[in-house]
Amino acid sequence: MTADNTPLGNGSILVVGGGISGLTTTLEAAEVGYEVFLVEKNPYLGGRVAQLNQYFPKLCPPSCGLEINFRRIKDNPKIKVFTSAEVEKIDGAPGNYIVTIKTNKNYVNENCTACGECVAVCPVERDNDFNFGMDKTKAIYRPFEMSLPMRFVIDASACKGTECNKCVEVCKYDAIDLNREEETINQQVGAIVWATGWEPYDATKIDNLGFGQYQNIITNMMMERLASPNGPTKGKILRPSDSKEPESIAFVQCAGSRDENHLQYCSYICCMASLKQTTYIRERYPDAKIYIFYIDVRAPGQRYEKFYKTIKEDENVFLIKGKVAEVSEDPETQNITVVAEDTMSGDKVQQTVDMVVLATGMQPTAVNVKLPGDLKYNNDGFIINDFETGGMFAAGCANKPADVVSSNQNATGMALKAIQTLVRK
Ligand SMILES: Cc1cc2nc3c(=O)[nH]c(=O)nc-3n(C[C@H](O)[C@H](O)[C@H](O)COP(=O)(O)OP(=O)(O)OC[C@H]3O[C@@H](n4cnc5c(N)ncnc54)[C@H](O)[C@@H]3O)c2cc1C
Repeated sequence: MTADNTPLGNGSILVVGGGISGLTTTLEAAEVGYEVFLVEKNPYLGGRVAQLNQYFPKLCPPSCGLEINFRRIKDNPKIKVFTSAEVEKIDGAPGNYIVTIKTNKNYVNENCTACGECVAVCPVERDNDFNFGMDKTKAIYRPFEMSLPMRFVIDASACKGTECNKCVEVCKYDAIDLNREEETINQQVGAIVWATGWEPYDATKIDNLGFGQYQNIITNMMMERLASPNGPTKGKILRPSDSKEPESIAFVQCAGSRDENHLQYCSYICCMASLKQTTYIRERYPDAKIYIFYIDVRAPGQRYEKFYKTIKEDENVFLIKGKVAEVSEDPETQNITVVAEDTMSGDKVQQTVDMVVLATGMQPTAVNVKLPGDLKYNNDGFIINDFETGGMFAAGCANKPADVVSSNQNATGMALKAIQTLVRK
């Protein structure tokens, strides 16, 4: 009757990935008293959610949820965060792993107050990856205004180093060391949760949909950044070729998803994301016409179904059941014509619009960068949870395409699985 709760080899947990899933696993485990090491490859926490303008279905900005999590992380001495870092190697077995964590050249240290004086003197510009290259930042930059850790970072591939040194000279806080090298840390942990998430499917691979060929075709994640107040256009949705306010926009659903040549599976969130993005357009341009080309609209559950029904009632939103076969551009106006077969009427539909949004799906990050653990993957690259072996678990979109609510639920479950590994039952 009396359980022996003695921790095995080590009583701490490693969480890899600081998106919403990794943050959730970290907090759930730390707030019941376990030590957690959180490793994030970006220089900031928050993952893809930090790039969204609003969350469906409530349409609140993700910053509110992230801010609360960031405060809980900062206040919890059980959590040690490594940003700009990755796990290089894992040895050992469930209950007792030795992990090797490697940090990038973090030229800016914790003395940074984010005052920004360094930015003014930096002579180099780089494409802003946070905004999918739609604007530029200096080589020293803050990823976004509420990024955690609250400090500037330097893109080592763009920085001119000590031959320039201007940022070092202007910094009053001794926060920049351009000679700083990568660091390696070995850490013992009992369990590992992979929360490495997803990346947008590369739309240039979908030949018939014109991304990369025509400027006025963007992806759904680019739309999130255009609509965000901290995005490249400060929240104005303007078409890229001439900054015109669009009067008509088409959404192409399943751009690469449910397609045997690209992603075989449904990415779960793209229908909801496009329905949400119609509200971004509607708010700014009440008379704009919005055309959504879809195979089926997937709005799972009561709340999402209700959201879908509300959008459907909008007289300026037209839902056309048909997969888009091709797109073309008028070279003079740079308007885009979308061609599909309306499967309800059997007619070929051609619609010319100012701008097109491709609802590209989510691909697990592990598809392109192999993780160091001994993990099982399904054919699409999502990590399979092997509860029999235990020790290592996948949370959120590392495990399957999911929205934030399901990612959080799954991440909470994986915190429990990790704790169970540490506690002898
Ligand atoms: C256009 C669009 C709009 C969306 N809008 C909504 C919405 O309104 N509401 C909603 O509920 N959902 C929405 N989603 C889905 C939402 O983005 C996901 O549910 C959410 O991002 C899942 O979080 P995650 O932590 O699992 O993955 P991610 O957000 O991808 O986080 C993973 C983290 O792991 C890090 N990482 C990856 N590999 C490594 C590594 N090897 N080492 C260290 N760190 C690593 C990444 O840098 C990242 O920070 C949307 C998705 C899309 C495509």
